[in-house]
Amino acid sequence: MLNSIKKVNLYVGLVLATYIYLFCVDVFCVIVPWLNWSVPGILNLVILTFSSATSLYCYLFCVFLDAGKVTEGWKPDEEASSAVQEVKRKDGAPRYCQKCKQYKPPRSHHCRVCQRCVLRMDHHCPYTNNCVGHANYRTFLVFLFYVCASLVHTIGLIAAHTLHTLQTSQEQRVIRTGPQSRPVHLENGFRNIILWAVLETSAFALALPAAIGLIMLLGWHIHLALTNKTTIEYQEGVRSRVQGVPYSEHPYDLGPYHNLHQILGENVCAWCLPPCSSSHGGDKFITVWDMAKHGLTKD
Ligand SMILES: [Zn+2]
Ligand SMILES: [Zn+2]
Repeated sequence: MLNSIKKVNLYVGLVLATYIYLFCVDVFCVIVPWLNWSVPGILNLVILTFSSATSLYCYLFCVFLDAGKVTEGWKPDEEASSAVQEVKRKDGAPRYCQKCKQYKPPRSHHCRVCQRCVLRMDHHCPYTNNCVGHANYRTFLVFLFYVCASLVHTIGLIAAHTLHTLQTSQEQRVIRTGPQSRPVHLENGFRNIILWAVLETSAFALALPAAIGLIMLLGWHIHLALTNKTTIEYQEGVRSRVQGVPYSEHPYDLGPYHNLHQILGENVCAWCLPPCSSSHGGDKFITVWDMAKHGLTKD
């Protein structure tokens, strides 16, 4: 419990506050007063609530659940059926973490912030105050997908409401200054309009850069998933050997189809669903060499 509370740092608090703020502005400044309980209003409310709640659930999952702990006493199996082993750059020996005092499984790395090795480590994310690794990578992808959807929805709603408000005020001005001038009572007071303008502008200013950044991040991780690479593997490359011979290609790239199945699961229909539990395993991965041994080729 105490460890869970420690996970909530300033960044996590800011992300949660942004979530609440954007959702409240969307619902109470845009959807309810503008669209009311009409069909478009209810549809927007349901879609926005679903995408926001799903992304928030995945976000909390990424914050609080372990990214992938290395089993104590893990050792590389020289006799394993897989002949591909990750080795040190200098002497080609199995990788060993001096800080954790244990061997590193393939694709694992030591995180300086978490102060331990993490299975299939992708990166340490300051906004979740946790690593993104084997156990939560699929959740991280699902989170990116839904948070981008909810941010694009938010931007669209605020932009449409602003255009509608400008158009309405223009029409009211024409009526008031036209030949058949008649008094028009604004639906809300001047103060309310200013307050709403400030709330919507600030929400838009928050959502727009967040959406641009997260869509770029989603695109980057889709590219990585299609090639079955982690961010660290992309930056550093993986040094491996096949039965003692240096292997230059990325050994885990099984082709886009198999790569996505490896990362997102066997059931294609469940790829976009939020997870119920963290992924298991993570200390052994199918390689190109394994596929070749079974007579399979990259798709
Ligand atoms: Zn370590
Ligand atoms: Zn970490």
